[in-house]
Amino acid sequence: MPGLAVIGHPVAHSRSPDMQTAALTELGLAGEWTYGAIDVAPEDFEATVAELAAAGEYAGVNITVPHKEAALAMADEASEGARAIGAANTLSFIDGRIAAANTDAGGLLNSLSHPLEGGRALVLGAGGAARAAIWGLADAGARVDVWNRTAERAETVAAELGARAVTDADPADYALIVNTTAVGLGGEDPFEHLPLSADSFVPGQVVVDMVYTDEPSGLLAAAEAAGAVTVDGLEMLVQQGALSLRIWTGEEPSLEAMRAAVRR
Ligand code: NAP
Repeated sequence: MPGLAVIGHPVAHSRSPDMQTAALTELGLAGEWTYGAIDVAPEDFEATVAELAAAGEYAGVNITVPHKEAALAMADEASEGARAIGAANTLSFIDGRIAAANTDAGGLLNSLSHPLEGGRALVLGAGGAARAAIWGLADAGARVDVWNRTAERAETVAAELGARAVTDADPADYALIVNTTAVGLGGEDPFEHLPLSADSFVPGQVVVDMVYTDEPSGLLAAAEAAGAVTVDGLEMLVQQGALSLRIWTGEEPSLEAMRAAVRR
């Protein structure tokens, strides 16, 4: 029975087992495949993954904060995206070897209904999720600006990934705005922490908030009120999870089943 699991922060992985199990059930694979959650401290991460890979009972694992960089570092091989991003959220165990991929970038792109080629995108943040967003958007042909609370980090990340660092931004200039910061996770007011104001969105613009919330986040509520198209963190969670499941099973999971499970 091939096992799958998510390893990482409890907040980040709390919905993944239900979501992936719903997809496996819909595919008729639930009797054969299982998907669970494993909590490990950073110091135990490498040994735990090495054990799972060697045991032969696991097909792979998803990885959340704070282990994504360590996951890439211990892999025997990695996709071009994972290498460029510098982090992996999907590991596959193949004959004892570990292959790394990053489905956060593809998950973000798949959650957008609008083509991006040539469009301007503003990425807020410079952590692991931002790196995936910047690489994915630039790869899809968008012109990407990066803003981060710690400006030097935005400069470093932008220079590495072919984007431009900005210290201020007029949201109306962008076809797409992606919040990859953790702002909103604790219910804080996004407009106190980000270079946006509640009335700064424009109709037709796409606004993504990667933070997972059941109710629309403060950011998305304001964007929607202005007529922007909004994508929440749960949709992106579904899209990145579906890409991981495709890698492991070779099957096309039901996004509808995954969406229903993640919002239950
Ligand atoms: P990370 O590497 O720890 O980066 C955190 C980022 O948030 C940094 O840019 C940090 O800025 C910024 N930040 C934190 N508190 C802030 C504040 N009060 N004001 C302004 N900026 C602040 O984390 P990550 O891996 O990139 O993840 C970020 C978020 O994305 C998390 O909430 C995670 O759950 C979510 N995420 C969601 C999905 C999904 O599928 N929906 C996928 C990946 C990640 P500094 O550099 O200044 O510290």
